[in-house]
Amino acid sequence: VVNELFPKIAVLSVGNELLCGEVVDTNASHIEATLFDHGFRVGETRSVGDDRDAIAEALAALAARSDAVIVTGGLGPTEDDVTAAAAADACGTRVILNPEALAHLAEFARRLKRELHPENERQALLPEGATLFDNPLGTACGFTLRLDEATLYFLPGVPYEMERMLEESVLPSLVRRYGHRGAMPRTTLKLFGLPEADCGALLKELPLPPEVELAYCVRFPELHLILRAPAGCLDTLKRGAALVRERVGKHLFAEDGETMDAVVAALLLKNKATLSLAESCTGGMIAARITSRAGSSAYFLEGAVTYSNHAKSRLLQVPAKLIEAKGAVSAEVACAMASGSRRLSGSTVAVSVTGIAGPDGGSAEKPVGTVFIGLADASRCEAKKCLFPGDRERVRQLTAFTALDLLRSHLISR
Ligand code: ATP
Ligand code: MG
Repeated sequence: VVNELFPKIAVLSVGNELLCGEVVDTNASHIEATLFDHGFRVGETRSVGDDRDAIAEALAALAARSDAVIVTGGLGPTEDDVTAAAAADACGTRVILNPEALAHLAEFARRLKRELHPENERQALLPEGATLFDNPLGTACGFTLRLDEATLYFLPGVPYEMERMLEESVLPSLVRRYGHRGAMPRTTLKLFGLPEADCGALLKELPLPPEVELAYCVRFPELHLILRAPAGCLDTLKRGAALVRERVGKHLFAEDGETMDAVVAALLLKNKATLSLAESCTGGMIAARITSRAGSSAYFLEGAVTYSNHAKSRLLQVPAKLIEAKGAVSAEVACAMASGSRRLSGSTVAVSVTGIAGPDGGSAEKPVGTVFIGLADASRCEAKKCLFPGDRERVRQLTAFTALDLLRSHLISR
């Protein structure tokens, strides 16, 4: 229903380098994001190589089912730049020397005190009937053409030239044709600790307003729920977000631009709490995250990377006997690490982690991914047992993130 309000817009990226993984197609994502911010939506994106027939075929196919096609790449001066010729093929015309384009090239060369070679002149060979865009930044000439009911926009592949011409030529043209649209309101709810499938089940029966579209986006280790609504439906979006917020409860840790690190920092400040850390399997990752924020000295006192058993005893006063009896990876040792850190540093709250990140070191009783996270404050010390999936790096990331999330819950409940 929503889509019927929008012109159908397609993006076509041209270049062999896009098809062999050499260059990531950031042009397409930039166009998609920019149009979205202006209330337009891209319905499909395609990539083709520097092949005249393939480009012509793609243009014809996309034009047949779109109102506008935005093409980038292949407008340069070299033999492999064949987009203009392909455009002419698709439109059933031929390329001719475009005087305006030639003047642009001559002017560009004059400003840079360069000769205009015949090779450069190739860039002024444009399809008959093309209307030129201004390119203040480079030699390539962007242009527009009609094909059946569709408008085709051709932009250079060089990202910064393309971006400028999109903003200055394509967007105004779309606005002239389809009117100004407010930006589509959207909001991102960031969750942790709720697997995507569980979240899907939880939200399945939610009576979201029909205008509100909900998308799941895994940004390891976070799960983002992106809610979008058509322009002018901000209140509806807010209503939808409130429903989701209520349903996901404590799993929601941040919204939009907020991050877990920022949320934890703000809670520490608000509680006037100080923090110390005792890390084993994360090797200082949590401390690195905490201290990457400017102003962290207001709440962060110290962190110890106590990897060996000896270090746990020497730096955190964990009794050697306890480690021997329970194992370094145990709830008891996690608690002793956190209380030791808190006692020795004088912090309000201490967090500890000890676990088996793998790939070796697992056992039947404590497989790889077994992690204990301890948290000590003035009144108590608790340890949570976790079993994380994935390789060493993912186990470590999950450990650090879970520790921050536990700290967040603790600070909220204080
Ligand atoms: P030029 O006048 O520079 O030749 P052009 O229109 O022919 O312009 P291309 O040769 O296709 O553009 O690309 C120029 C450069 O821009 C490429 O080397 C590549 O690094 C970058 N580029 C091209 N297409 C894309 C894209 N879709 N996403 C990101 N970068 C791109
Ligand atoms: Mg080129």
